[in-house]
Amino acid sequence: MSDENIVVVVGAGHAAGAFAEAIRKEGYGGELLLVGQEAYAPYQRPPLSKAYLAGDMEAHRLSLRPDSFYEKKNIHLKLSTQVSSIDPAAKSITTASGETLSYNKLVIATGTRVRKLPVPGATLSGVHYIRTIEDVISVLANWQEAKNIVIIGAGFIGLEVAAVARKADKKVTVLEGQDRVMPRVVAPVISQYYEDYHRNEGVKIICGASVTGITGELRAEAVTCADGSIHAADMVIVGIGVIVNIELAEAAGLVVANGIIVDEFCRSSDRDIYAIGECANHPDLRYGRLRLESVQNAQDQAKVAAASIAGEPKGYDVVPWFWSEQYDLKLQMVGISTGYDDVVLRGDIADNKFSLLYYKQEKLIAIDSINNAADHMAGRRLIAEGISPDKLAVKGACVKLKEFLS
Ligand code: FAD
Repeated sequence: MSDENIVVVVGAGHAAGAFAEAIRKEGYGGELLLVGQEAYAPYQRPPLSKAYLAGDMEAHRLSLRPDSFYEKKNIHLKLSTQVSSIDPAAKSITTASGETLSYNKLVIATGTRVRKLPVPGATLSGVHYIRTIEDVISVLANWQEAKNIVIIGAGFIGLEVAAVARKADKKVTVLEGQDRVMPRVVAPVISQYYEDYHRNEGVKIICGASVTGITGELRAEAVTCADGSIHAADMVIVGIGVIVNIELAEAAGLVVANGIIVDEFCRSSDRDIYAIGECANHPDLRYGRLRLESVQNAQDQAKVAAASIAGEPKGYDVVPWFWSEQYDLKLQMVGISTGYDDVVLRGDIADNKFSLLYYKQEKLIAIDSINNAADHMAGRRLIAEGISPDKLAVKGACVKLKEFLS
């Protein structure tokens, strides 16, 4: 690609920031513009429900790179600017203020937005979501005074917030609609472990809860459930999943289906438009089509798109991985466990250091490791290389997983 070209990125989040850095590394010297609707330069979201919320991290450390980096690399950030349409025929985008910007290659990195709680009272003040810095600033504005926190949704974000809130000595109730915590992503044995751990830390966890409303005069005061239970709350934090931002792509005529459909080079159905990060649905060599919500995916797809546009195209081939931090527990996940038919536990749960290996038709497809980085790192290589250790042989912690590597 010649340097007279213009590469425009819609969105200035994690994937967009990683892409800008990667395409400069590929040697692209042309115009590079990131248009993002948030007021901030690309930043990391994981600390929003962890260290930043806990007050253990200053805001400036959330940034992926300091402002000087973008100046030095000649990366233009157009922030607080929403893109309202894409015209693939004219190769241009239009912003909400009516400005039209041309591109030669466009990268869509619009991520996802939070799913809103669809019950009466959900718009009362004191009801929060955690997706952006602004969301957390708004939580922190009332954090000191909040004594009773009700969290709706026991996914990663809900449980991470529960852990931070307990450390701050708040009374915490978690309401989960399914019959166990983190139901979509981990096996029942891991759910049970986390449920027990949170309960021991003083969190009240109620599974099978159906939230019917939030009540309060001026602000949220309680959460009501279908069984008639009422949970006092001076702050409610909702973490019930996300909706993928595909409307722009769909209106532009791109193929979408749970994300913007891309090939292994992150290229959409329009050859000059790419999609990366949470908004992209890519063909995975091991697991079929995936749309992933992780830092790993945002960073790796950014590199793939950068190489496709400005370097030597190389298809996406990374085993997905993810982490979550709750109390002193570091959960590291590798692979995708969907469709597993057997699990093998390594180590002793009582030690708070163990791993669960997921098998499908005798093939190792995923590993969840708690406080066991060695298993996680070995797992990445085992799955990448398609090695499925014998189930009996991996039981117990004395054998190192890396010994199964060829
Ligand atoms: P985002 O970072 O969301 O960026 C998308 C950007 O596009 C946003 O700024 C959005 O405002 C902007 N945008 C959307 N539409 C438009 C438009 N029309 N015009 C202009 N701009 C637009 N992952 C992990 O691996 N481990 C973790 O522990 C972890 N913890 C997390 C904790 C929290 C609280 C959250 C919210 C996420 C966490 N994640 C974690 C997920 C990870 O942060 C995301 O997967 C990653 O940020 C995705 O990057 P992205 O660029 O695709 O989306």
